[in-house]
Amino acid sequence: MDGEHIEVTGIVQGVGFRPFVHRLASALGLVGSVGNDPTKVFIEVAGAGIDEFVRRLVDEAPPLAKVESVTRSPSVVVSDVFRIVESRSGAGERTLVPPDSAVCDDCLAELFDPNDRRHRHPFITCTNCGPRFTIITGLPYDRPNTTMAEFAMCAACESEYTDPSDRRFHAQPIACPACGPRLRYTGGDDPIRDAARDLAEGAIVAIKGLGGFHLACDASSDEAIERLRDRKHRPDKPFAVMSPDIELAAELGVVDDSAGLLLRSPARPIVLVEQRPGTGLSELVAPGNPMIGLLLPYTPIHHLLLDAFGWPLVMTSANASGAPILHRAADEHLLDGFADQVLTHDRPIHVPCDDSVVRVLGDRLLPIRRARGYAPVPVPVLLGAPVIAAGAELKNTACVASGDHAWVSQHVGDMENLETLEAFERTVDLFMAMYDVTPDVVAADAHPGYLSGRWARENHADRLVEVQHHHAHVAALMAEHALDPDSRILGFAFDGTGYGDDGTIWGGEVLDADARGYDRVAHLAPVPLPGGDAAIRHPSRVALAHLWAADITWSEDLPPVAAHTDEELRLAARQFETGFGTIPTTSMGRLFDAIASLLGLRHDISYEAQAAIDLEIAATKGRVLPAPHFAGVEGVIDPAPFIVWLVAALREGARVEDLARTFHEEVARVVETVAARQGAGLVGLTGGVFQNALLTERCVDRLERSGVEVLTHRLVPPNDGGLALGQAFVAAARRGDRPAP
Ligand code: ZN
Ligand code: ZN
Ligand code: FE
Repeated sequence: MDGEHIEVTGIVQGVGFRPFVHRLASALGLVGSVGNDPTKVFIEVAGAGIDEFVRRLVDEAPPLAKVESVTRSPSVVVSDVFRIVESRSGAGERTLVPPDSAVCDDCLAELFDPNDRRHRHPFITCTNCGPRFTIITGLPYDRPNTTMAEFAMCAACESEYTDPSDRRFHAQPIACPACGPRLRYTGGDDPIRDAARDLAEGAIVAIKGLGGFHLACDASSDEAIERLRDRKHRPDKPFAVMSPDIELAAELGVVDDSAGLLLRSPARPIVLVEQRPGTGLSELVAPGNPMIGLLLPYTPIHHLLLDAFGWPLVMTSANASGAPILHRAADEHLLDGFADQVLTHDRPIHVPCDDSVVRVLGDRLLPIRRARGYAPVPVPVLLGAPVIAAGAELKNTACVASGDHAWVSQHVGDMENLETLEAFERTVDLFMAMYDVTPDVVAADAHPGYLSGRWARENHADRLVEVQHHHAHVAALMAEHALDPDSRILGFAFDGTGYGDDGTIWGGEVLDADARGYDRVAHLAPVPLPGGDAAIRHPSRVALAHLWAADITWSEDLPPVAAHTDEELRLAARQFETGFGTIPTTSMGRLFDAIASLLGLRHDISYEAQAAIDLEIAATKGRVLPAPHFAGVEGVIDPAPFIVWLVAALREGARVEDLARTFHEEVARVVETVAARQGAGLVGLTGGVFQNALLTERCVDRLERSGVEVLTHRLVPPNDGGLALGQAFVAAARRGDRPAP
């Protein structure tokens, strides 16, 4: 019979795609077959209504599927029914690995249904939900290539697994109480009940999740949280809070429609929202921080535990600060120093994956940390050569690219120790193996001291391309928006620290760029950073530098001056006069720190961007005052006139909130002005400073009003977590062997 051969690519395996095709074809009275091989789903189909079949194939695809392409060609089909055929193995580029997904509503209903055979089964899953990326040990994605391989299916599970009409047809992690993994608790025989009891009594409990262990405790208990902070050596940095349900989450924080959608999405990220006062949460969850990171339960274990506990839990990755998340059974003894008890199980985690963190920007998502639920979904962009990019030093991710996909790895961690370097190497190896990539080019940051760069130089010196930090930020935006490598964009790369071409610390950069290179058309005026990068922890020292640069006398009534001893001030003055022990920086992140200190908001920080967050939140409560502009002489943007005014206004008793707001508005005005002067039609906003939602919104608003197209990040973080993607984009373009379009 005349019919068609159809090929579907994308995330189409392990997500119930073949049974969906089977149901759809049968419903339309079509005959033929569906199967998959390592690169695609292939369909032979004949009958009336193939066009409708193809349309619904895309429109009605299962929730976790992501169709990238559908190709059709004529074919002869010999069949009188529609059936599912065996998987074919073969070489070539692999089909895409799905990310982990929160337990679906159908499974959740069964979990709490006393008549269901999986009632309260902590490992309930189906083709529409459950672990994926974190349990994969090889490809193709099939049960023997997952950490479920060691569990033999019982007859009941087997019959569901092999029944095309069942929701669990080929659900690789399928399990039930008879044949599945077992939950185990160190503090009692009834894991959920006993863990909930201990949590209520103030215990810190390690809980094995999808991508690693969490440390959990009662989110209302000062005492428990204080111990947790002590053990993690984490004095101030906010903890995320897992709420039993969305209703309670909306009482803890300001959850608008967009935030609600993100909280409930299958990726289940931590969503940063404004905290509500008087909720009963301990002050110590996010001390002095007006934001709170909320998330909803995403595994059946979380649902059972939160249901039993009935109140929000602090949930934080089990690791030393910046180090990779603990995830192996062999790691469990390392939990001793952190947790009083451990709630664990025997389904191994193969790939570690932290929780993702996002903010809401208007009605869109702004990624802050991209990991569980998003990785390893690739960025669709054609690089033209197989590339590996080693990423940044802090918030490291790697990027492996081939064909028209760039896979940005899950968040690896801060490359300050051997464990993170090893985790990085394992991650690179995993992505290379998964997608069969042997790199022609390897990209790394130009910083001579980065561990990721050292790895690239030691292992791939013959194919190394060094990429300037802020150029990589801008290129990440270009890649994410699939721009042509030759198109030009005016990139505002505002961040904390990046190695500049002149060996100084850059970070307030305006680059007229394409993928190959850039002109540095403007930058913040350099100030001397006392003690170099060490000043990052002390916004008050950076404030002294900006006061000094603006010729403002250090008098005692100014908050950053009062924050120092006379001896410290004498030493700093000598440093600034001689330049000894200082490094010039054009960092916008440091300028935000300095303003926060000048306004008396914060002089020392214990985690990144702490002062800048204070400044942003103050600004959201203020209004714009008339103020003098930054000076802009030949591409050097000098905040001195503004700082002179700010100090005077502060002395006259202006509100801190208004001054913070006015500062944000002035930075946005500078962006608009520089874009206009350059005659830019396309502008990109990137770098860690653009995690600031207020600043981003003000810049976008001003630019769009003046008719400029603006690109911001949606797929990878504006911070250094997105750097690897940009490095890969630049390295591929420099290699110069892109195929003609
Ligand atoms: Zn499910
Ligand atoms: Zn079973
Ligand atoms: Fe950066």
